[in-house]
Amino acid sequence: MINSSLKELAAALAAKKISSRELTQSYLARIEQFNPELNAFITVDAEKSLAQADAADKLLAAGKGGILTGIPIAQKDIFCAQGWRTTCGSKMLGNFIAPYDANVIERFNAAGAVNLGKTNMDEFAMGSSNETSHFGAVKNPWDKLAVPGGSSGGSAAAIAARLCPAATGTDTGGSIRQPAALTGITGIKPTYGVVSRYGMIAFASSLDQGGPMAKSAEDCALLLNAMAGFDNRDSTSLERPVEDYTRDLAAPLAGLKIGLPKEYFAEGLAPDVAQTIEAALAEYKKLGAQVVEISLPNTQLSIPVYYVLAPAEASSNLARYDGVRYGHRAPQYKDLTDMYQKSRAQGFGAEVKRRILIGTYVLSAGYYDAYYLKAQKLRRLIAQDFTDAFKQCDVIMGPTTPTTAFNLGEKSDDPVSMYLSDIYTIAVNLAGLPGMSIPAGFGANGRPVGLQIIGNYFAEAKMLNVAHQYQLATNWHQRMPLL
Ligand code: GLN
Repeated sequence: MINSSLKELAAALAAKKISSRELTQSYLARIEQFNPELNAFITVDAEKSLAQADAADKLLAAGKGGILTGIPIAQKDIFCAQGWRTTCGSKMLGNFIAPYDANVIERFNAAGAVNLGKTNMDEFAMGSSNETSHFGAVKNPWDKLAVPGGSSGGSAAAIAARLCPAATGTDTGGSIRQPAALTGITGIKPTYGVVSRYGMIAFASSLDQGGPMAKSAEDCALLLNAMAGFDNRDSTSLERPVEDYTRDLAAPLAGLKIGLPKEYFAEGLAPDVAQTIEAALAEYKKLGAQVVEISLPNTQLSIPVYYVLAPAEASSNLARYDGVRYGHRAPQYKDLTDMYQKSRAQGFGAEVKRRILIGTYVLSAGYYDAYYLKAQKLRRLIAQDFTDAFKQCDVIMGPTTPTTAFNLGEKSDDPVSMYLSDIYTIAVNLAGLPGMSIPAGFGANGRPVGLQIIGNYFAEAKMLNVAHQYQLATNWHQRMPLL
């Protein structure tokens, strides 16, 4: 059961082979057994989850269930869920009980899914290793000395360890794809604007996008069907016709043109990751795809540009945590200013403070033109690289990350080397494009390798098709770690 696809689980529920309550209980039992070591969940509330499971069982009994009805889904702790503690991995929101549901949560509720708990994450989604969480690091189920990646590291580890069948993530610079790659699971960051950001705690609003994480592309397509759609409470939500993201899964790949950016296969790429990606490309050729070399000439600008724009937006978004309305308030202070200062000094961790300082600096009157404005112009050039590349290919492929999972603690004192682990993912967010990562094998140390697939705007169904066909031909996505 723990390795079943969502379709198989839905069929078992519909045939009354198992109830949602039993299914939810079996995952809660796995969480109880393995979470103390993995630390993938921040909050588990069996009573709440089981109440939802019972409601789903009633719907199923009445024959009113949909494909996700009764299926337990773990939610990244960045999504507000009414009545649930929602921390965003921060002490600042350590005791925050969300008074409302994020749009993503509303949609899963409407689909009859069960909220299985809130997953661990880097503080305010700032990180690539899940080590900045106030609630402690998450361990990679494949090797407990390794990080699971971040910031959606809890969701990724929970899926890899089969503590849940599926989960949500958010991706501002790679936070769905990078942890998916490092834990051997599948995750998709949709085109910017496809999934509503309402109730998804803001980090860098022009880059943040929620998306599904699961074992397979087919599961991700089913989840995206539930998550995507217009929401007038998010001004960047796109009003587009409803799509069925499973519609092209079965299409053959003959004639598919895969673009390989030469900049993604250059210095910095570990040889074992390169070899695994080569093997995946050979598999695609067997499936009838053609490979063409392309160039994304501004690739090396993406990290510097991101680390101006994302902190700028974060410094503004995080100004709301003032200790007045909600969130942490210092227990002792002299006056209002002292209360602000102490509350923020105590509530935020080191990485968040670093970003607020950088962001405030690049937005300050004297430096705005030199940094923020310049970065905005370069962002445009980075996006143009992709527009040019998609004239020559249908999808772009390459490694999701330059190396397999690094060790816990290995990069935590070296922010720049940590930032470099997102070298292949960040440009996709700057351009607003959809991107995904699928498991493609293992590196020299036995840790998973992810293949990144980048699509043109709104090409999610195509990317999921490309991923699904590979998953029909290989079984990397079905491998499970020994816990
Ligand atoms: N690792 C990147 C950062 O630290 C991206 C994080 C994300 O996508 N949320 O900002």
